[in-house]
Amino acid sequence: MNLFCAIAAAELSVGDLLERANSGIVRDVDEPKVIGDIAVDDEQDERNADPCTSSGCMWPKSSDGKVYVPYVIANHFASSELQVIQRGLDSFSSVTCIRFIPRSNQRDYISIESRSGCYSYVGRRGYGQTVSLDRNGCIYHSTVQHELLHALGFNHEQCRSDRDNHIRVVWENIIDSYKYAFDKIATLNQGTPYDYNSVMQYHRTAFSKNGLATMVPIPNSNVAFGQATQMSQNDIKRANRAASVPEPQPKVNLASSPQKSTGQNLAHQSSLQRHPLVH
Ligand SMILES: [Zn+2]
Repeated sequence: MNLFCAIAAAELSVGDLLERANSGIVRDVDEPKVIGDIAVDDEQDERNADPCTSSGCMWPKSSDGKVYVPYVIANHFASSELQVIQRGLDSFSSVTCIRFIPRSNQRDYISIESRSGCYSYVGRRGYGQTVSLDRNGCIYHSTVQHELLHALGFNHEQCRSDRDNHIRVVWENIIDSYKYAFDKIATLNQGTPYDYNSVMQYHRTAFSKNGLATMVPIPNSNVAFGQATQMSQNDIKRANRAASVPEPQPKVNLASSPQKSTGQNLAHQSSLQRHPLVH
């Protein structure tokens, strides 16, 4: 990629970048099932896109009030790519109580790798969990922040249970096989308003089959949205509020644990299965 292209790509919205990097991807057999850019367990109902509502899906809060998320980074990145990734990891430190720290011997951690496209699980899975930042198209500040927010437990803004008050989904313009990407799920809203500028908000023509809008803002259809190139103030507020949730009790009998999500009356349950992920 020449410098001009790199600059031009950096100005694309996060949704554009993700869609571009993830289109036409054929994943390796050892990679998870991926819905859009969200990885799910095989046994999981794929229409459920893992809302992170079980008590085990949040990263634990330390006694000093911070949330430490251990990470490892695969050794196949170039130094310029590592700089972008590191900047994304560090960007949480200055504005949130979340600290991505190099893994020593912690059991649960994220493993940042260049796999097929950009993707992450939603929330903590237990043991190592891949955050894929494909060297081909995913190494941007916005995409790094977006995938890390997934790993922290956050989902897409357009999937919020209250999204119909803020955007109208134009179903007839969506590629049939991507309609699930617009399912409403129990997202961690943390009392924050719907945010057109969230780095988790996709762009106007996301997953369009005809180039026409798949989402139209309400009430003013001309309002710009989905243009974020970094975390918004609401993304930051949400991350901080979620991080202040008390550490869940040990993962016993998750089925009887109350949901912490603010997703109101949605009955979605994330998979209660947690398996070590071996890569
Ligand atoms: Zn995403």
